[in-house]
Amino acid sequence: MPDAASHLPFFYGSISRSEAEEYLKLAGMSDGLFLLRQCLRSLGGYVLSMVHNLQFYHYPIERQLNGTYAIAGGKAHCGPEELCEFYSKDADGLCCTLRKPCNRPSGVEFQPGIFDSMRNNMVREYIRQTWKLEGDALEQAIISQAPQVEKLIATTAHEKMSWYHGTITREEAERRLYSGAQPDGKFLLRERKENSTYALSLIYGKTVYHYRIDQDKSGKYAIPEGTKFDTLWQLVEYLKLKPDGLIYFLKESCPNPNMPSGELILQASFTLSLFLSQAQRRLGTLNADGYTPEPIAGLGKSRILPMDTSVYESPYSDPEELKDKKLFLKREQLMIDEVELGSGNFGCVRKGVYKMRKKQIDVAIKVLKSNNEKAVKDEMMKEAQIMHQLDNPYIVRMIGVCEAESLMLVMEMASGGPLHKFLSSKRDEIPVSNVVELMHQVAIGMKYLEEKNFVHRDLAARNVLLVNQHYAKISDFGLSKALAADDSYYKARTAGKWPLKWYAPECILYHKFSSKSDVWSYGVTMWEAFTYGQKPYKKMKGPEVISFIEQGKRMECPPDCPAEMYKLMQQCWTYKWEDRPGFAAVETIIRSYYYSIAAKTEKGPEEEDKTKAACP
Ligand code: AMP
Repeated sequence: MPDAASHLPFFYGSISRSEAEEYLKLAGMSDGLFLLRQCLRSLGGYVLSMVHNLQFYHYPIERQLNGTYAIAGGKAHCGPEELCEFYSKDADGLCCTLRKPCNRPSGVEFQPGIFDSMRNNMVREYIRQTWKLEGDALEQAIISQAPQVEKLIATTAHEKMSWYHGTITREEAERRLYSGAQPDGKFLLRERKENSTYALSLIYGKTVYHYRIDQDKSGKYAIPEGTKFDTLWQLVEYLKLKPDGLIYFLKESCPNPNMPSGELILQASFTLSLFLSQAQRRLGTLNADGYTPEPIAGLGKSRILPMDTSVYESPYSDPEELKDKKLFLKREQLMIDEVELGSGNFGCVRKGVYKMRKKQIDVAIKVLKSNNEKAVKDEMMKEAQIMHQLDNPYIVRMIGVCEAESLMLVMEMASGGPLHKFLSSKRDEIPVSNVVELMHQVAIGMKYLEEKNFVHRDLAARNVLLVNQHYAKISDFGLSKALAADDSYYKARTAGKWPLKWYAPECILYHKFSSKSDVWSYGVTMWEAFTYGQKPYKKMKGPEVISFIEQGKRMECPPDCPAEMYKLMQQCWTYKWEDRPGFAAVETIIRSYYYSIAAKTEKGPEEEDKTKAACP
């Protein structure tokens, strides 16, 4: 995940205070000379190091719970760059304004932190082992969940450090520290039996000192009166650099005799086997009958990742179940509930359960009205044929078709309902970062469709269904087309009942549909999402919208919508389809924005902030 400051030439990454001072000296010590470096104390925080009157000043920049950045007592800013810009105009309590960036000398790259350099591999291994994913399912999980998984890893990393001794008594800690050599700074970290807090035990002058580690309300760790940290391993790393109230700084790890030797974080073994216990704790187990109830959709307290749900992978990803996979399902395996999930022209969508070999799954069943004519039935079969060829975590999968009392299309259940309704009903509870996350998932699903050469033709917020607050799937393939291998668009012979407000100019003018026209619809869907479910183009009628677009006009930036996201919408609304980005580019753009804000706002499930993290 790129650091939010990695593009800044005056950002040095993880360097120490003295290194920062060396660079400032080298650059001439002029008033207002400044650089930015990573903060060792808080995940995602920075330090602004600057010069005034030949003196050094170091200001920690904290990442706030709402995803903004601020120097203690100062104004909040939406990113480190914006913060520096602000202080270059107004000292606002600093020693002086920022006048001259101390850029990295040529050849000096920014220093990755110990965690940065290995996190990509760790995320991959963690996901692979925790959710037993491989291939595309693994890749999609990495792309969509890296920020959440990184946070999970960061908060449990200490468990595999050589200096971590688990739950041992104070006496046992002393025994371990006194055994063998007793240099000053030899230390270990242990969990205390009493209300599972932690303690540091440290040798100095042949005596062992014990320090309690407190956790504050927001979950930060500190020795009493000491500096606060997001994770235990960061606390230890920091105390290795300076004592911060301890009698001596941490120097030499007293290795846990029950662990393989060495600083495990620096070894590949760190990525293996370590996270399983944590994962099992979180995932829970299947019920005896193999039926996994879907987590309740909506604002659950604990954060459920898409991979934790039963609809992330296809029910046929199990080779045993795959043996039974066929388009037509047996009626006796299907139980249809009275509950209606929604309705359309063809009939209604009902809740149900489908019995498979080893498990039962919740399903949504599109039931065709019995009095419907053959054409409608054919259309529904076409939709089924399309959906049958698709398998992606961010697309509603079709389980099969059942021909019994009526024709029924059996699909995965996405019980959170359509995106626009969900957002309009939960407007005050859903932060913008959550909207970005969901729209990123839609982009992943659309990129998959683009790769498979399918055009959706009806992408809109009403056709994005939610599994839960953090998991969206694209649905409704009623208008979709599979393109021939060498075709880049589908040409409709006649215009039908089309959702004109979502259609690109070439669809309306020339009946030409491609992934690029889906990109236009994606832009409109983004607009719906960032307005929390408003209707696009207000009260305009279809033809009015066309002339509005022809005049070069576009919908305005929704209130609270980040500038980056509105810019992407505008790119999606590029008039000429040849100049419009494809979904591969759209996904990359929204991914990098999503990662940058997730790094700022991802505070773990309970603390997740509900305020909106928008830039002015
Ligand atoms: P559709 O005609 O496909 O747009 O479906 C009509 C409505 O039925 C949707 O707006 C949803 O509320 C509901 N629905 C459709 N498919 C599903 C599904 N797979 N899971 C849950 N609800 C669904």
